[in-house]
Amino acid sequence: PQTVGIIGGGQLGRMMAIAARYMGYQIAVLDPTPNCPTAQVADTQITAAYDDMDAIKQLTDLSDVVTYEFENVDLEAATFIEEQGKLPQGSNVLGITQNRENEKTLMRKLNLPIAEFSIVSNAKECEEALKQFTLPAVIKTCSGGYDGKGQLKINSKADIEQAKAFADKYGSCILEQWITFDKEISVVFTRSQSGEIAYFPIAENEHRDHILFQTMAPAKVNAEVQIKANEAARVLAEEMNIVGTFAIEMFVKNGDIYLNEMAPRPHNSGHYTIEACNISQFGQHIRAICGLPLMPIIQFKPAIMRNILGEDMEPVLRAMPNSEEGFVHLYGKDEAKVKRKMGHITFTADTENQLFAKVEKFEEAK
Ligand code: ATP
Ligand code: MG
Ligand code: MG
Repeated sequence: PQTVGIIGGGQLGRMMAIAARYMGYQIAVLDPTPNCPTAQVADTQITAAYDDMDAIKQLTDLSDVVTYEFENVDLEAATFIEEQGKLPQGSNVLGITQNRENEKTLMRKLNLPIAEFSIVSNAKECEEALKQFTLPAVIKTCSGGYDGKGQLKINSKADIEQAKAFADKYGSCILEQWITFDKEISVVFTRSQSGEIAYFPIAENEHRDHILFQTMAPAKVNAEVQIKANEAARVLAEEMNIVGTFAIEMFVKNGDIYLNEMAPRPHNSGHYTIEACNISQFGQHIRAICGLPLMPIIQFKPAIMRNILGEDMEPVLRAMPNSEEGFVHLYGKDEAKVKRKMGHITFTADTENQLFAKVEKFEEAK
């Protein structure tokens, strides 16, 4: 293929586009916002809504292969591109990952370990279902949530009325048992069109205010957990016939894993691969969708990635001159809103101790 089309113009699309550009491809992006992060590094932007079928047709005509940077792609649009033979990732995986009920139902069908869950669509069903749960629990909208938006933790009986109101407000919801995990990890991997899988080292994630704060890789988990996590990923990848880079978030508790959610695209917790590995999650994604064989993955150095949110912009940029070997990425977003992901920074070092020292030094400089 000569031109890679990307639906969605955010930072994930931008980093895909940069990787594709390194490999000699042209980029076309579809996004309603002019000069969005991806458009800044693309050859062509089609400025239209994601579900504008004329725009989808235009993108498909322009592109030899089409991919997406988010899972909420309009299914009619995805099916159209697939029918033109230009969506190697397929549309089936979107239908599943757009909806937590579909996602969890599939995981349960495959006997993968997950927290207890129940689907509820109104206050009455929520109240009934909660009788089967030991609190805490959490209620989430089945579709559309991210960065902790669209969910409510139910800590005690006092929160039940709020949960019922949540169910009435949003309709299709999932109740989940709260897992008091030891850590959160993610498996980021890529599957090629011939069914070969390459796993990036498992990442360990820390969230603050429901937003990913830091990823460290490789994760500090034992070999048994690594095998279980990668095996669960393989089962899902083969069941859904995944192509491209894919991520699964999991909780680890007492050596057991619980699958949380999945993303059919590169993931925030895989950004460290840009500097720490021989091939990034974005480069590997482009290889997969373009029908190239995958690269065997090598992580050169341990890494810590931290997101730069709107409120972090100034202190981070101020601190950087004092910090060695911190790779700063900014996404070219014009408005530095609070909690908005504006960029990220990746630290690498020869040893873990040097890595921690480097992050600490950066924190002090901030
Ligand atoms: P993302 O931005 O990753 O897409 P999201 O809004 O889709 O997030 P989740 O990943 O389901 O939501 O939940 C956000 C965070 O809330 C999780 O990373 C985890 O820290 C916590 N969480 C969610 N569900 C549970 C659970 N069942 N048990 C314990 N913690 C949970
Ligand atoms: Mg999510
Ligand atoms: Mg999540």
